[in-house]
Order: sequence, then structure tokens, then C-alpha cells
Amino acid sequence: MVLLETINLTKYFGGISAVKKFNFKINEGEIVSIIGPNGSGKTTFFNLVSGLYKPDSGDILFEGESLVGLRPDQISNKGIARTYQTLRIFGNMTVLENVLVGMHPRLQSNFFHSLLHTLKVRREEKEAREEAIKILSYFKGRLTGPRLNHPASSLSYANRRRLEICRALANHPKLLLLDEPAAGMNPSETIEMMEQIKEIRDKGYTIILIEHDMKVVMGASDRVVAMDHGEKIAEGGALEVARNPLVIEAYLGKKGAQIA
Ligand code: ADP
Ligand code: MG
Repeated sequence: MVLLETINLTKYFGGISAVKKFNFKINEGEIVSIIGPNGSGKTTFFNLVSGLYKPDSGDILFEGESLVGLRPDQISNKGIARTYQTLRIFGNMTVLENVLVGMHPRLQSNFFHSLLHTLKVRREEKEAREEAIKILSYFKGRLTGPRLNHPASSLSYANRRRLEICRALANHPKLLLLDEPAAGMNPSETIEMMEQIKEIRDKGYTIILIEHDMKVVMGASDRVVAMDHGEKIAEGGALEVARNPLVIEAYLGKKGAQIA
């Protein structure tokens, strides 16, 4: 079943088309990677889907219904969660609290603002806590055990990136948007992250993964879509896309290009 589909999605900044007539589709249970050099429109695509920006034209259909015109919180409530290229976790909160604040607002207000600990509130707190720990254990022991109660600021960089994903998973989104989740990681952490993304998918999530280094997405994607100057220039299997002359040219044309 098609979960998300965009039709001729277009967004201009001044005279520049950051995303141009972009047709994209993802089925339930897939991992689709979006690759492309810096500035090719990948993050703008996420900003459009998550409602941060309004498209100039085109449509975004989620479960067959248009998201255009909805606020980011309304889109989030429909089951779309995202991470950002730059980390947005709360350094002075604990690891566990970072996931708890990502949970449903009802639980949030009960957990943090209730002075009267009724039995119901306690039960909800306990359930929320257990759920948060379950999500944190997706990353094996890296975020659990004593670390649950450590401030997020004390975590290694790689663990903070992992925590950002857990926070996005707090409400069990139907669609998870990951914007360069391995950015700044070393090669072995990057390989581990790609494995973990596949494991998260196997738990029943649908994932769109943005990555500028096409080598990184090779083993982790069911399909790859390549962008350049806001347009889709190729799509298909990872190898097929990496060998596409338009893709090679897009990467070679940019300084600092990385190619498989
Ligand atoms: P990517 O994530 O692929 O590196 P972006 O989507 O961030 O690329 O950017 C695509 C293009 O849109 C770039 O030319 C960028 O400078 C421009 N752009 C993105 N966001 C804005 C904005 N808020 N205002 C003006 N220009 C923007
Ligand atoms: Mg980006």
C-alpha cells in the first residue's frame, strides 16, 4: 500500500527551485533513500512533507489524503515523525525524559505538570516509561541501563544521534523521516547506524532516509531516489542509481563529491 506520495511537488526560494516537480512514492514497510549533493533539495522535501514549508504547487498525499495546508503538529498527529540534520535533543534532560517529551501531549502534561499523582496518572507514567525504555533498547545497550538517567549532554555524539531517532519514534509514527542520521559519525558507527535503521524498519516502520554519501545507503535501502537542483534525476536499485551517468555527473560536478 502506498503510504506517501508527492505529485509535482514544487517549492521556490526567490528564483531558485529548491524542489521542482518532484514525484515520490513510498509503500508501507519500505526504506527509500534520497541521495544527492548538498543543496539538491533533500531537506526541503522533508520540510514540505512535515509542514514546515508550504509547497508553491503540487500535492502531498499521506494515506491518500492531502497534507497541504496542515500545520506541523497536525501532520505529526497523522503519524509522520522526523529528525533533523542538526541535533535537536534537550541536553539538560535525561535520556529517558527526551523520549518521554516526544510522546503524546496527554502523557507529557500528566508526567511533567501533575502534582496530584492519582493512580491513573501513575499508571500512565509507568506505561510511558516502559514504552520509552523499549524504544531506547532498539539501540541495544547504548542508551539503556544507567544511561537512562544521564543528561543527554553527557552522551557521545553518536549516542545523541541515536537518541534523536528514539525521540522521533516515541509516538510510533507510521512514517519516519531521517535527515542524514549518520552525519558526523565515523565509518564503523555509520555502518552500525545503517544496520539499526534496517532493524527499526523490521519492527514495522516505514522510513525515508536522506543521505548525501551514496555509499552509505547502498546496503540499507529498498530503493534509492537521486536529486539534483531540486529534481529527481534517477531512481531504482542502489547500484543502478549509483551507476547512472546523471548521478555520477551531479556528484562529480560538486566539490567534495563522494561516489561509490
Ligand atoms: P539538501 O538538504 O539537499 O542539502 P536543501 O533542501 O537544504 O538541500 O536546499 C536546497 C536549496 O534550497 C539550496 O539552494 C538552499 O540554499 C535553498 N534553501 C533551503 N532552505 C532555504 C530557505 N529557508 N531559504 C532560502 N533558501 C533555502
Ligand atoms: Mg540537507
